[in-house]
Amino acid sequence: MASATQVVIVGGGVLGTMHAVMARRRGFEVVQLEREAEARGASVRNFGLVWVSGRKAGPELSLALRARELWAELGARVPGLGFRAAGSLTLAGEDAELAVLKEAAALPDADRREFELLDPAGVRAVNPALRGEFAGGLLCRADAIVEPRQVLPALRGYLVGDGYEWLPGREVTEIVPNAVRDHTGAWHQCDLVVLCPGAAHTGVAGRYLARGASSPVRRVRLQMMQTAPLAERITTALADGDSLRYYPAYDLPGRAQLPPQAAAAEQARAQLLLVQRADGGLTIGDTHEYAEPFGFDLDEEAYDHLRARAETLLGAPIPRVRRRWAGVYSEVTPEVAGHALYHRSEVEPGVVLVTGPGGRGMTCSPAIAEETFR
Ligand SMILES: Cc1cc2nc3c(=O)[nH]c(=O)nc-3n(C[C@H](O)[C@H](O)[C@H](O)COP(=O)(O)OP(=O)(O)OC[C@H]3O[C@@H](n4cnc5c(N)ncnc54)[C@H](O)[C@@H]3O)c2cc1C
Repeated sequence: MASATQVVIVGGGVLGTMHAVMARRRGFEVVQLEREAEARGASVRNFGLVWVSGRKAGPELSLALRARELWAELGARVPGLGFRAAGSLTLAGEDAELAVLKEAAALPDADRREFELLDPAGVRAVNPALRGEFAGGLLCRADAIVEPRQVLPALRGYLVGDGYEWLPGREVTEIVPNAVRDHTGAWHQCDLVVLCPGAAHTGVAGRYLARGASSPVRRVRLQMMQTAPLAERITTALADGDSLRYYPAYDLPGRAQLPPQAAAAEQARAQLLLVQRADGGLTIGDTHEYAEPFGFDLDEEAYDHLRARAETLLGAPIPRVRRRWAGVYSEVTPEVAGHALYHRSEVEPGVVLVTGPGGRGMTCSPAIAEETFR
């Protein structure tokens, strides 16, 4: 009797774990190695936004929509993911931003994104907690939320049993065709290795990722914070008008008419994204730092700006900030990778490296894993 296909996954982040899910769906036997006692990279530091609204038309939107379907399906099976089809509101602070939202609402694929342009009263009808100042909003019903601190253990709990083994505290230090060795010296032989090392570009995957300007991936550092619970429910995820300057869906004629960002936002390349956690706390971010070496400390100016922006939209003080952190993700380098949405390459026979999904990695992870096995 032929034995089942064996897959070894390196990396316990969302990309590695979604590869474990998709491998098990095909009946493959999976061993997943993670160097830490529990994953603590980008996958647990993010907003948990399953974000369709800002995706570029074409393959990026299709990938995000397929992933959204997979998240919904998994969410129904695994309540611990905290999946909510909450939608999002992108809020215009003034007329030039509103003009971009109007253009977005008229896009040929606006119905796939489930866009609806709302005036301020319409925004408040959807999200009554928004009592502050804004000129209108773009509702995206396709956007969704998961709980990033719960997703990985919840998925592993779903997989646990015959055919899935989770090995934390194992750092892979050597790669050869169809096998890896971890730091304890143990070899893991298999039919396929899937390397999902996230932003660890200099570790064991480093020799496959050329350095400097020719590297297919680069790293980006973001600052985040989380507040104490807000008593009131914020029904959707929120984005401010600064997000129109960054997301490719909003690369529309009206973008050229946008006024300069506030100085603190421009300096930190900040946009406000706000998600209410299941416990009522608010996850607020983000900033973007591209030049390494990254700062080792947190910049308070950016936090002041984001806090003030959140309070302007809510029309009320936000609760006390309980936690601050920074996170680093791996993203494909636009100048090298062209239009690639993430990096996948067979680096040795039977060894595939998958990383670089950037700020869409939480969103797209199930669909990326599905594509690997397809
Ligand atoms: C602050 C922030 C906010 C974000 N918000 C969103 C969002 O709301 N929506 C969205 O779609 N995306 C978001 N992203 C992007 C998303 O989080 C990432 O793209 C995604 O989590 C990447 O997953 P990963 O599994 O590739 O990487 P990681 O989560 O970094 O996981 C990689 C894992 O591999 C392990 N590892 C590395 N080397 C080895 C080795 N040699 N041996 C064993 N283990 C190893 C690491 O310890 C790590 O646990 C955000 C990112 C950040 C930083």
